[in-house]
Formats: sequence, structure tokens, C-alpha cells
Amino acid sequence: MAKPNKKVAGGGIDFERKRIVSLINSMVDAVIAVDDNLKVTLYNGAALNILDRNTSLAGLRIGDVCQLIDKKQKNADIEKFIQKTTSQKTSRDFRLRYSDGSNINVYLSVAVVSLGFGTGGKGGYIIIMRDITREKSLEEERDEFISVVSHELRTPIAVAEGNISNAQMIIAKSGRHDSTVDDVLDQAHNQILFLGGLINDLATLSRAERGRLNLEIEPINAHELVRELAQNHKPDAKSKNIALHVKADPELKLLHSSKLYVREILQNFITNAIKYTDKGSVTIAAYNSKVGVCFEITDTGIGISKGDQAKVFGKFFRSEDFRTRKNTGTGLGLYVTSKLADLLHATISVESKLNEGSTFGITIPNLKSKKK
Ligand code: ADP
Repeated sequence: MAKPNKKVAGGGIDFERKRIVSLINSMVDAVIAVDDNLKVTLYNGAALNILDRNTSLAGLRIGDVCQLIDKKQKNADIEKFIQKTTSQKTSRDFRLRYSDGSNINVYLSVAVVSLGFGTGGKGGYIIIMRDITREKSLEEERDEFISVVSHELRTPIAVAEGNISNAQMIIAKSGRHDSTVDDVLDQAHNQILFLGGLINDLATLSRAERGRLNLEIEPINAHELVRELAQNHKPDAKSKNIALHVKADPELKLLHSSKLYVREILQNFITNAIKYTDKGSVTIAAYNSKVGVCFEITDTGIGISKGDQAKVFGKFFRSEDFRTRKNTGTGLGLYVTSKLADLLHATISVESKLNEGSTFGITIPNLKSKKK
């Protein structure tokens, strides 16, 4: 009579381990478990494939089997990336480099585990990797296409906008108003301005996503900047009967950052504040912060629900609120803003209460200009 196989029937640690190994081996993504000392304790077949190895990884340091390079083509230390992870971290910005110098784009995810995969039930990390070279190259092609198309559309849009403005001016001067013609021209003008804004956002976006935006760091007089912005937006605020206030700390220090992008970020906040406010006021505030200057744009407008606050910086997001939808918009402004903020190492905040108003804040740190 055959003896009952206790190991199979009862399970046990060995059986559980085999179960986990066959489970992770069935995954298409590379899975590597490392212990607290960053030594490999468990891995699957896909890990051997992506790392281009045919010998065991067990017991090897992850930094010795996986060499990464960052966006700037510089060596990046995977061990540092892992050790900085407190719960879970993902990145699509690294490339995995092979010994022959070739490399691939990888999606990298690191999660901290407290039990199980580390040796002796200690802590450790789970690393997941996937080859995303094809996705990245499609994204690059898409961005290149958007960049070329938006560039080509800029001139005809500017010409059309100029011609419509001229026609409006000629009619205004002649005094021969015809309400139908006036309406048609107004609508055409608004639409062409909207199109121009959209093309601008798309162009900035594709450059920001490709990391192709040049940062020209210069001293910015934040005091002057907020006054100038208030001046520029006065006509829009006036046409909606909204008061526009400036509250700038008289002791504001010079800020060192990109004037172009700081202005673009604040313009987006102010345009939205005026757009989504029907009565009351918009306040542009600026004060010193430890790292640089903090700007806050506060409005007494329609406000943003808690659920939407988490989404407003998403690509093409527009609230379903009918009061949002009665204004034209692309849902790109805040997304572009967040990309520019990343570039400036700035932090954005939003506080809002539905029907009471919103405050968009941004803390912009002083940056050092690169020596030429
Ligand atoms: P849009 O072109 O729609 O204004 P944005 O990216 O600038 O796109 O803003 C995204 C969405 O966030 C808006 O559609 C609106 O729902 C909400 N939003 C942004 N700013 C404000 C604000 N100051 N008050 C209320 N809602 C706002």
C-alpha cells in the first residue's frame, strides 16, 4: 500500500513556496523579491528574460543584476530607488541597460512587504518590471505629431483671429452695426480664441511631456509680476462685474525661477478663477515661503466638490457641474499647469468648498541657473 504523501496532502512551507513560485512564474511581468539587504530571494522566468540572464539570481544583490539609466541618460541606482520606497513607488522613466550597451524602456514598480518574501519572515521588497519600449516610442511619435500639427496651425489661426478683429474694428468705426453680423463675428472671434488656446496648451503639453521645455532661470520680481497679471486680467474681471484684488507682501524677496512658466501657471489659475466665478471677487496673493515664493489665487465662485478636487489636474478633466459646462474650456489648463509645476519643482495645492469658492496655491522654490 502506498504511504500517504503528507507533504502534498497537508501543504507545509515547501508546498506554499512552490505554489507562490508557480503563481509568479505564470505572470508575464518580471517579479523579483528582495530581502532587507536587497538580495534576491525569489524571482520568475520573466525576470530572467528581462534581465537577459540564464543563471540563478538567488542571493545576488539587485544592484549587481539590474543597471538602470535615467531620463538624462545617467546611471541610476536601483538600490537607492528601492530604499527610498516607503509603501509603493512606480516609474516609467527608467531604461534598463544591458552589458552590450543596449537598453530598453521599463515600467518599474517597487512595493514594501513586511512578511513572506523576505528571508526568515523579515521585511523586503517586491519589484515588478515590464518592457515598455514600444509604448514609449508610440508616445514619442504621438507627441511629435501633436507638436508639428500645433506648430503648423498657429499661423493660420493667428491670421484668422487678426482678420476677424479687424472686421470687428472696421464695423465699430463705421458705426454701421448689424446685430446679426456683430453676433456672427463675436462667435467666430470667441471660437478662434478658444482654438488658439487649445493649440497652445497642446503644444506646451507635448513639449512638457517630452521633457523638451527649456528652463531659463531669471530673477523675478514677484511684486511686479502679480500687479502686471492683475492689470492684464482686469478687463475680463470687469466684464463679469467681479472685483480683482492683489495682496502682495511688501517684503517679497526676489524669486529665481522661469518667469515664462511662473506667469503661465498663474495666468491659468487667474483665468479659471474669473471664469468659474459669477459674483464676488478674485484675490491674487503672494508671500515669502521658506523655499521661495508662495502664490494663492482665491475666488468666491462655484467651488469644486471633494470628489472633483482630486481630478482637476487630470488630462481633459472638466467637472460635470452645469456651471462649468456653460463656459468653454478644454480641460487641459490645469494639466499643463501641473506639468509646468513639476518642471519648476513647485508644489500645488487646492482648497475648495462647493458654492463658496476655491483657492489654488503654488509654492515656487528658488532654482539655480545652469552655468553656461
Ligand atoms: P478648463 O479648460 O475646463 O477650464 P482646466 O484644466 O483649467 O480646464 O480646469 C479643469 C476643471 O477644473 C474645470 O473644467 C473646472 O471644472 C475645474 N476648475 C478649475 N478651476 C476652477 C475654479 N477656480 N473654480 C471652480 N472650478 C474650477
